[in-house]
Amino acid sequence: MAVFPTGDEARAAGRDDTAGGRGAGGGGRGMPRVHTRRQWGAKPPRHRARVLDRAPDHIVVHHTATTNTKDYSKAQAYRLSRIVQRFHMRQLGWDDIGEQLTISRGGYVMEGRNRSLAAIRNGRHVVGAQTLGYNDSTIGIENEGNYSNAPVPVQLWASLVDTCVWLCYAYDLDPFQAIVGHRDFGSTECPGDVLYQRLPELRWVVARRLGVQGERVATPGHGDLHVPNQDSASRTVLRGVPDPPAQPDGMA
Ligand SMILES: [Zn+2]
Repeated sequence: MAVFPTGDEARAAGRDDTAGGRGAGGGGRGMPRVHTRRQWGAKPPRHRARVLDRAPDHIVVHHTATTNTKDYSKAQAYRLSRIVQRFHMRQLGWDDIGEQLTISRGGYVMEGRNRSLAAIRNGRHVVGAQTLGYNDSTIGIENEGNYSNAPVPVQLWASLVDTCVWLCYAYDLDPFQAIVGHRDFGSTECPGDVLYQRLPELRWVVARRLGVQGERVATPGHGDLHVPNQDSASRTVLRGVPDPPAQPDGMA
């Protein structure tokens, strides 16, 4: 479910098997609240993004390597997206912001490259600029902050889990195979040692969320998860009735 929980709620969710609390029919696997380009004030892209008529095969977790701000507000989240877009377009000369999705330290999820939300809803892939050599087949999530040493804020973590559940469900991806760090695809420290070392946990939590409807999740590893994503009825429910947006204003 789309939540921007308090710290305690997020910690509880992180260790709780959510299957019991979420009904069948896509509950818990839907789209989290994603703030649109219009909301954060995106500049128009130089060119419309290219959309491929297929799903990506990996979800690449990044960190922005920017300051670990204590400003968890929506204003900071929107500012972050504008800063990243400006940097990618002006300094790097790209057509638009590189990543498809951005998550702030306060847990706000934002659309990145133009056409990304529509593409995800339709099971298609927007070609971004986030993982050199793999942009035709990977979708990237930029997480605000530098996680070489610092812990991941609980709000960011909760939204990263929600986002990965949503993407795995929308694209029929096995989280154990699909969720990777940027360094798995290139010579980079990204997403920092701390966040990278939490990727196994991320895969597990996402798998458990996807495992509602009584599907078995056995031991960690490839091939153990049966992702029940072939049910067209629940996919219709997923797309037709997204989780209600939560107002994050009460967040710490
Ligand atoms: Zn990266």
